[in-house]
This record gives sequence, structure tokens and C-alpha cells, in this order.
Amino acid sequence: MEFEPVIGFEVHAELKTNTKVWCGCPTTFGAPVNTQTCPVCLGQPGALPVLNGRAFEISLGVATALNCEIPRETDFDRKNYYYPDLPKNYQISQQFRPLGRGGWLDIDLGAEGTRRIGIDNIHLEEDAGKNIHPEGATHVDYSLIDLNRAGTPLLEIVSTPDIRTKAEAEAYMKGMKSLLEYLDASDCKMEEGRLRFELNISLRPKGSSTLGQKVEIKNLNSISVVLKCIDHEIERQTDILEEGGEVEGESRLWDEAKLVTRTMRKKETSFDYRYFPDPDLVTIVVTEEQKKRIAEELPELPLAKRARFAEQYGIPEYDAGVLTANLQMADYFEAAVRAHDNPKSVSNWMMTEMIRRLNEAGEDAGAADFAVRPEALAELVRMIDDDSITGKIAKKVYPLMVETGRMPSVIVEEEGLKPIDDSAIEPVVRKVLDENPKMVAEIQDGKMKAIGGLMGQVMRATGGKANPQTVQTLIKKLCGVE
Ligand SMILES: [Zn+2]
Repeated sequence: MEFEPVIGFEVHAELKTNTKVWCGCPTTFGAPVNTQTCPVCLGQPGALPVLNGRAFEISLGVATALNCEIPRETDFDRKNYYYPDLPKNYQISQQFRPLGRGGWLDIDLGAEGTRRIGIDNIHLEEDAGKNIHPEGATHVDYSLIDLNRAGTPLLEIVSTPDIRTKAEAEAYMKGMKSLLEYLDASDCKMEEGRLRFELNISLRPKGSSTLGQKVEIKNLNSISVVLKCIDHEIERQTDILEEGGEVEGESRLWDEAKLVTRTMRKKETSFDYRYFPDPDLVTIVVTEEQKKRIAEELPELPLAKRARFAEQYGIPEYDAGVLTANLQMADYFEAAVRAHDNPKSVSNWMMTEMIRRLNEAGEDAGAADFAVRPEALAELVRMIDDDSITGKIAKKVYPLMVETGRMPSVIVEEEGLKPIDDSAIEPVVRKVLDENPKMVAEIQDGKMKAIGGLMGQVMRATGGKANPQTVQTLIKKLCGVE
């Protein structure tokens, strides 16, 4: 029997606020342990939470961009469970009246166009602290707890199980990450756990419309890990079903060392958490004016920017998609084009030399931190365009720009890469022609292919610093075939 996967995601995004969601503690990443805490986020008796208005506004922006319905009234509930990194013994979340429901995200599937993935709900909650398990030591019977992260605003975006393939899952995760970056809602650093994907996956016979038993997988800290995990789960669940067994509803953890998932706990239901409205927090009213203002303040979103790039800069749709998949990249491109108006060439350099290096640097590497600044790329393209350097030399200069962060004009000067003066090329061409009488004869016979061979020799003799156009003209002229 052939099975098809049914996939949904819960996205957890730490919001980009200066302070926590119920108190004024800072949210600076990497601060010394337990220095960003107060009675509220430590869950001390009598301490009362107050909603961070900025976190709520960011959440409304995300809900609006994801086409959700935002109810007039929304409120907060307690999700009760015990865990050492949760000092209150409950998490403040939104169970009954979340701030957004029933939206969608259009995902980009390249040549296959776009597909609409449903958003079931969006709710604002708080992150927990971190358990630190001492590594390397044997016979350690304790863990340490850092509560700096406890109370960091966390937005949870729950999709409907609309995803059917690994390619769609990848497009969804990238699309969601891109949207959150565009909205400046989260810095989305997956390696730091600031953006986390939780995967729900079940299998069903192809063509069936009922849902199979789903499994939840946590502990996924990069998009590539989620994709590996999908492969593994499809295989694991297929094996169980083919042997006539039943998939168990449970939470599983990804084991990166063994590339498998393993049971974490049997699935609990929402009843187990004894959700009830938090009596310490009031109902929040979202007015029509506020919704309207938030909709008006939304920035240009990825798919709109992509269409504009293709149209305004005359670059292929595919390239526009790559350049706008991430806001830093899109801003980089526009900054470079503002400095030198040659969008096609700027795009080509970015699509090849730059993206390859960013990919090598890992999923979190962004254009904003790239050693070659947009102005430097613009200068390089300008130097090629006005024949200050040849394309060949530019290929030598670029790696030095990446290495040193220096401007190309400085590198060309210091490395002696300036093109040879046209008047200095002629003696080199004459010498090459003298050494290759056979090829010269061929050219004079009309076999123009030989010009390429001679040009190659001249370029080698000049270290790539001769203008190819000049070399070609000179060869023709000196062979008398012009
Ligand atoms: Zn605090």
C-alpha cells in the first residue's frame, strides 16, 4: 500500500522585544545566568504579571500578515504542568480565545507555483528557562537551571495539517522564517533556539481522507534537521503500518547522533494541562482602529517584494525569489543597486559568489553580517562596467574582498591588478603571433576559431589583466583580417 504523509507545524518564535512578556526584565541573549530575573518571572508569591504591549502589537502584526481573524476580545490562560525550568508551575498561554484564528500562508514551490497552507491559530505565551546538564562529567546527579529566558515572549503559530510533501514542509518553514524576519518579529536564530519548529506527522493510505495517528517531534533546531526527521518518520511509520501495527500517539525527540526519533512521552491531551483563565490578567480588547493601523503599518511582504523585484529590476522570477526569500538579502541587493545601477550584474554576483559562501557559513548566516558590503559589490560591478578591471580579475578580487572586507579599488591598487594599458598590450600580441605562425595562417584562411586560442595565450601572458576586447581587435588587425 502506498502511504502519504500528513504534516503540520507548531512554530515557536521568540519575539524581538527588549523586555520579557510579563515583567520588565531584559531579554539580552547570552547574559550571565540568572541575572535577568525578578519576582514575576521567578514565580514568587504575590508577584503580578503585566502584559508587554510591544509583544502584543508584534503578535497582532504577525496574525494580520498571516491573514488571521483577530477577535475583538482575547485573553490568557494557565497551562498547568511541573518542570524545573518553569518556576510558576504553569505557563501563561492562550487556549480559549487566542489572538488570531483561521489564517493562511502562501508557500513558494518554485516552478509549481504557490500553495496555501492554513493557520489554525496564533497565540502569545511565555518561554521557559533552560536546564543545563553538565557535560563531560561522570557521576553528576544534578542539573543547573538558568531562568534568564523564563518569561521571554513566545509566539506560537499552529498550522492546519495541510502539508503533504517534504518540499512543501521546507517551503513552509522557509516562508514562515522569512515572514517573521520581514515583520522584524523575531531574529529567527534557530541555532540559539529563538525559532523552533515542532513537527506533527502521520501517514494515511494515499487517496484516503481520514487522518492517521499523529506523532509530535520536538528538539528540532534547524530546517535541515526537520527534513531529515520527516524522512525518518515516514520510514518508521510505514514499517509499522506495513506490518499491520498501529502508530502510537506520542511526543518523540530527535536524536541527531543516531538520526532517529525516540519516545519522549506518551501524548498528553489538553485536558491534562487543566487550562483555566489566568485571574491575574485582564481581557484585552482589540479595537477596529488598532487592527486597521496595524494592517497599514505592515511592511512589504516576501511575495509582493519578489514580484516587484522581477518587474522593477528586470531580473528573472527565480532570481527575484532567491533574493527576496530573506529580508537581509533583499535589502543588500537594493543597497548595491542604489550605489551602482546594474541590477542584473549585482544579482548574478549575489546568486553565485555570495550565496554559496553564506550557505557554507550555516543556516543562520545573514547578508547583514557578510564581509563584502553592498557598496563594495557595487564598486566591483562599476569597475567591470567601465573597464577599470576585467571580469577575470574581478573573480580574483572578490575572494580577497570576502577575506579582508576591503573595497575592490583598494585591493586592485595594492595587489597590482590594474589592467594593462592598451598600448602595452600590442607588443604581447605581436610576440604571441610570432610564436604561432600556424594559427595566424588559419585566421588569415578565415578559420576564426583560432582567435580564441591566441586570445587565451595573450590573457595568460598578461595575467588576465588585458582587456579581452582590445586583445581581440589587435589580433584581427595584426593578422590583417579586420
Ligand atoms: Zn522578570
